[in-house]
Amino acid sequence: MKIVMKFGGTSVGDGKKIRHVAQLLKRYHEEGNQIVVVTSALGGVTDRLLENARLASTKGKVSLVKEFKTELTNKHHEAVKDAIEDPRVAKEVLQVLDLRIEELEKALIGICYLGELTSRSIDYISSYGERLAAPIVSGAVRSLGAASIEYTGGEAGIVTTSDYGNARPLEKTYELVLKRLGCRLESHILVVTGFIGENEDGIITTLGRSGSDFSASILGAALKADEIWLWKEVNGIMTTDPRIVPEAKTIPQISYAEAMELSYFGANVLHPRTIEPAMREHIPVRVKNTFNPEFPGTLVVAEKFQCRHVVKAVSLIKNVALINISGAEMPGTVGTVARLFTALARAGVNIVMISQGSSESNLSFVVSESHVESALKALHAEFNREIVKEITSDRNVCVVAVVGAGMAGTPGVAKRVFGALGNSMINIIMISQGSSQYNISFVVREGDAFAAVKTLHDEFELYNGNGIEKKL
Ligand code: ADP
Ligand code: ASP
Ligand code: MG
Repeated sequence: MKIVMKFGGTSVGDGKKIRHVAQLLKRYHEEGNQIVVVTSALGGVTDRLLENARLASTKGKVSLVKEFKTELTNKHHEAVKDAIEDPRVAKEVLQVLDLRIEELEKALIGICYLGELTSRSIDYISSYGERLAAPIVSGAVRSLGAASIEYTGGEAGIVTTSDYGNARPLEKTYELVLKRLGCRLESHILVVTGFIGENEDGIITTLGRSGSDFSASILGAALKADEIWLWKEVNGIMTTDPRIVPEAKTIPQISYAEAMELSYFGANVLHPRTIEPAMREHIPVRVKNTFNPEFPGTLVVAEKFQCRHVVKAVSLIKNVALINISGAEMPGTVGTVARLFTALARAGVNIVMISQGSSESNLSFVVSESHVESALKALHAEFNREIVKEITSDRNVCVVAVVGAGMAGTPGVAKRVFGALGNSMINIIMISQGSSQYNISFVVREGDAFAAVKTLHDEFELYNGNGIEKKL
């Protein structure tokens, strides 16, 4: 089989874990599979890179850059020590790492002097997490005696738009990846940095936080892989976030459509765009646990199945805000909604959910917390107090969603959802049902969010697991 395997930040969290990953890779390779590995940064490194880029631009202290350089060097040298036994390979990898860390240091010092941090430089700086991880993973594989080559996303052929922080692959990616990686697949385990690509001018871009899942799917689609495997530290896609409800169970099989709804509605087990490339080539996606590799995990496929319970999973989006606009003159004023959405789109604001009161005199919508300021600015500029009288925002809210293909055409699901929440005295601020009918989502106060997730997980008895009953 041809398999693209992605390992998340926890899976490659330190040298011992990387050695374990390399052993897994060698085993699958020896079983006759062709393997492309997509690696994330070592756990926590992307956050530290972003924090230090910000510090450099605000404080401008070169001494802090030096401290950070030491921290990164120690962490990655330690990982090499634990992951790579062969001293010759270890030496080669350390040389590559030291060169890259020096480049990063120069860039951070540049930011200190400029006092400016553009979205392009944020992408450049944050790319170093994966660019420091890939040589270690590839070295760990070589140290076990298997041939391996390392590529950045751009070298592998991922060419993207210039939307720094949220870049999307251009169509030519699919051909280029096949040309660059296809011929090496027979002989080598190819290691590619997740999360990053290049624009057409060769400038580094990133695909958004958790973007390595998306990278794996893009490479899988380009190479027409038989399967795409996403290795994480959980037993697959579960009925809800196991950190919120420890009784959550693995969902053995789920459709592309449902997985997309879940990832879009906050199940941060998958980057929201992960499924798109896989779906276009009908490639099955497996979500597996690096630390429990024999467990089958979750299989994501095109078919929709009816399960024992109509609701398959409950998800939660935390970092959102509710914006409400109102004005007595809004009813009957044609084009208010169009103006609103145009203004928000121009400001690059992504709307998670919307709801319009039937009186039409107010309109509420949910945006990511990071977009609130730009949303408010765009709205004030657009409406200038005619028609819209008041614009308010509330950051202490969360979005909860219940997802399942069986919900389409099954009456009474909404009644059960809101009945159960009512019985638990949880107040609902806003409701929306996706037109796909694969999800019902609603807004609650932040303080009620965990209770809402637990209540619904219980109501639909998801703690019992959810076996497949029939194809839909
Ligand atoms: P990666 O290591 O690939 O980056 P993530 O950390 O992004 O993996 O995703 C795994 C995390 O997602 C888990 O730690 C879990 O807490 C969280 N999560 C949220 N919702 C779900 C869900 N429905 N199923 C599994 N994990 C979930
Ligand atoms: N390292 C990146 C992040 O932390 C991408 C990823 O892990 O998928 O967001
Ligand atoms: Mg992730």
